[in-house]
Amino acid sequence: MSLIVVGSMAFDQIETPFGKSDRIVGGAATYIAWSASHFVTPVRQVSVVGGDFPQSELDALAARGVDLDGVQVMKDRKSFFWSGRYHMDMNSRDTLETQLNVLGDFNPVVPDSYQDSEFLMLGNLAPAVQLSVIRQLRRKPKLTVLDTMNFWMESAMPDLEKVLREVDVLLINDSEARQLSAQYSLVRAAREILKMGPRYLVIKKGEHGALLFHENHVFVAPALPLEDVFDPTGAGDTFAGGFIGFIARSRNTSFENMKSAVIVGSAMASFCVEKFGTLRMQELDRAEVDSRIRQFIDLVNFDIDLLG
Ligand code: AMP
Repeated sequence: MSLIVVGSMAFDQIETPFGKSDRIVGGAATYIAWSASHFVTPVRQVSVVGGDFPQSELDALAARGVDLDGVQVMKDRKSFFWSGRYHMDMNSRDTLETQLNVLGDFNPVVPDSYQDSEFLMLGNLAPAVQLSVIRQLRRKPKLTVLDTMNFWMESAMPDLEKVLREVDVLLINDSEARQLSAQYSLVRAAREILKMGPRYLVIKKGEHGALLFHENHVFVAPALPLEDVFDPTGAGDTFAGGFIGFIARSRNTSFENMKSAVIVGSAMASFCVEKFGTLRMQELDRAEVDSRIRQFIDLVNFDIDLLG
């Protein structure tokens, strides 16, 4: 059970129709690590932060079992900054600003102590950086999962195409799947994307759940119907952390097990949106995780008597 997580660690500023946050800690790898650490430790983190990133946040992650040897701290520079505004549906959003700062010229170095890792989660950041991490590993992981976003499709498509050819699973949301494939139907989009490299594809649809595609198979997972969504930021990354964390713990990469991983990812994401930033993830305990996964099982469990 060993997992490498690559991705941004950042400051975010978030606007929703109901309020605006201060600059808060976020970043893809931050959310992934909080989520995955419920299933597997150590989570071996690869990222970069500036001198402005709070030491207390790094300490909290380390206390949770996150290995920070692969996190570079650039003392005299600023951390990655992202701001976004959610629409009324709390699902779609516009990026207001992306300041790459330390991420702009990030040159990841995978520590020697990470080399025996069996699972690799390539969280959102420049595809060239994701590729560099793949190339540095001396042993091919049992499973490599990739997350990306429209920003990279628009600014680094050739690199993204290269990294897509080297991964097993791609996680993206519905609008990104449409953008990547130039297809509106998600079934057609999945067919096109599965030709680009990954053997498995998860399309996340926010409050409408997630779809898992593999060859001619498709599995549908619901999202937990929630009364209030405070902040959807990081839900996708938290999903990714639960998904890969569960697979790394079970060491089972079959389609059947991936179905369970999609449910676990959905359960973890349902916590993330309950509070701003990583707050909910930081206070979460194992009993709550188990009980929410049980809620999901009840949500999709039914008997039916077929007529005739
Ligand atoms: P999610 O809501 O799961 O899609 O991810 C939100 C997180 O992604 C935020 O915490 C941001 O810091 C991070 N993020 C936004 N844009 C980028 C980008 N271009 N590269 C890397 N991370 C990003």
